[in-house]
Amino acid sequence: MTDYRNATLNQKSDAWFTPENGETIRTEIAVIGGGASGCMAAIGAAESGASVVVFDKNDRPARKICATGNGRCNLVNLYQNEKCWYTSSGVSVRERLASFSERDLLAFFEERGIWFHDRQGYVYPGTDQASVIADLLIREMNRLQVGVFSGTRVTGIEKDPSGAFRITVESVGGSDPGKEKNNRNRRKKEDPHKFDRNRYDRNRYARNRYDRDRNLKTESVQEIPEHRICIADRVILCTGGLAGPVFGCGGDGYALAESLGHSLVPTVPALTPLICPEKALKMAAGVRCPAAITLICDGEETGAEQGELQITETAVSGIPVFQLSRLAGYALREGREVRVRADFLPGMPEEEWQKHVDLRLRDDRNQTLEQLFMGLVHPKLLRFILNRLELVSEQKRAGVKTEQIRQVLQLMRGLDFEITDLAGYEKAQVTAGGIPLTETDPDTMESLACPGLYLAGELLDADGICGGYNLQWAMTGGLLAGRAAAGK
Ligand SMILES: Cc1cc2nc3c(=O)[nH]c(=O)nc-3n(C[C@H](O)[C@H](O)[C@H](O)COP(=O)(O)OP(=O)(O)OC[C@H]3O[C@@H](n4cnc5c(N)ncnc54)[C@H](O)[C@@H]3O)c2cc1C
Repeated sequence: MTDYRNATLNQKSDAWFTPENGETIRTEIAVIGGGASGCMAAIGAAESGASVVVFDKNDRPARKICATGNGRCNLVNLYQNEKCWYTSSGVSVRERLASFSERDLLAFFEERGIWFHDRQGYVYPGTDQASVIADLLIREMNRLQVGVFSGTRVTGIEKDPSGAFRITVESVGGSDPGKEKNNRNRRKKEDPHKFDRNRYDRNRYARNRYDRDRNLKTESVQEIPEHRICIADRVILCTGGLAGPVFGCGGDGYALAESLGHSLVPTVPALTPLICPEKALKMAAGVRCPAAITLICDGEETGAEQGELQITETAVSGIPVFQLSRLAGYALREGREVRVRADFLPGMPEEEWQKHVDLRLRDDRNQTLEQLFMGLVHPKLLRFILNRLELVSEQKRAGVKTEQIRQVLQLMRGLDFEITDLAGYEKAQVTAGGIPLTETDPDTMESLACPGLYLAGELLDADGICGGYNLQWAMTGGLLAGRAAAGK
């Protein structure tokens, strides 16, 4: 067994990254998951002088970060209030972040060489490249000689009577197709949903996509050949949730946390499109337009948002829909009837709207309906609305009753879409639900159920709205957990 706990930095770097096959790893702190929270936890702990190893399923850490903000990484938002995060744990997420604010997080990166620009409060790296954030985290872990074991999956954590954690780790092959193939059949038997050829190919495709144009130097990254045991004094669980399975997120952390005494708030995908079964939706596919959206569950208005609505062949999407998706998800879970109502002329004063209505009702030229309604909504959307009333846009005004014209206008201000499902974790940006915040110490993120265990990031029952709040939550929580774990 190699004991890294008392090693000096130089000793560590000699031995750290070349463990013999089958050898047990001994460390002060093991971080499970090398995403946004895990990298920050490792850096926080290593900067505080602890020996740290990170296990991550992907072939390199910080993979998901490269995909954030459409590849630009919306790291934080300067506009902050209580309503920027949801939790069912009855505590304030914002208060939990108070000791290390969004400005502190920006300063953390600025001190290390990144400059940022803000677009109306939404803050991105100045180069608009998410990869610079990922690269910086990897560089910092290299500098601090954190041992990063990529292509590894933690399958079990036990706490022994001495208080140390015994962590079981297996190789999942990282980006090496050969290794993945060897493990595939065995894992398929264990959990048929966890692995299949198609998903593997999709993952590989996505990895290649995010590797393109990048030359990530991950000196510390190692792949563990076979099963391995790691003994750690403290564990920081940063496995994320279920959103973005292509980035290694399969919900493993929930089972690991539950095995150590935690409970779980049921999860649903969040910041995701809403599935609408209406066949005619394809008539409006491709439309992007401003809209005020209301979520209606069992006839009751449950939430409202405004922004750019996007319509696809099977779903309604766009930021206002994303924001409401977690509410829709929980409502569907409870078997409630869910609808989304869209007003396609948001913010138009009643007086102005009335002028438009009067104009259309008065107009007695025998033009087509498309011509009559021109200038109010996107032509594709108009066709979809007319279809609801069994009208077509080529139809002449003369053959349509005034009452029907009135109905078309009404639907422009309140068109209902039936929602039967969410687009799922594959399309979701975040997971709602998770390990209750009340089961962790608000200052240190230490587990109240299992001392020595720390939890951070999306794994916990807190999810932010669009705009940088999820990365802030993950990164800040990780850093606080890392520092606290090292200080213990
Ligand atoms: C497409 C997309 C775009 C997004 N854009 C933004 C944005 O612009 N701004 C924003 O604030 N948020 C954004 N988010 C959300 C944000 O990325 C996440 O909330 C955040 O990354 C969560 O960090 P995390 O560390 O908790 O989990 P993750 O980043 O998901 O990392 C978890 C890591 O744990 C590893 N892991 C899981 N199980 C195991 C195991 N058993 N053993 C070993 N390793 C394991 C996984 O491989 C993964 O690398 C986006 C998300 C997606 C999917």
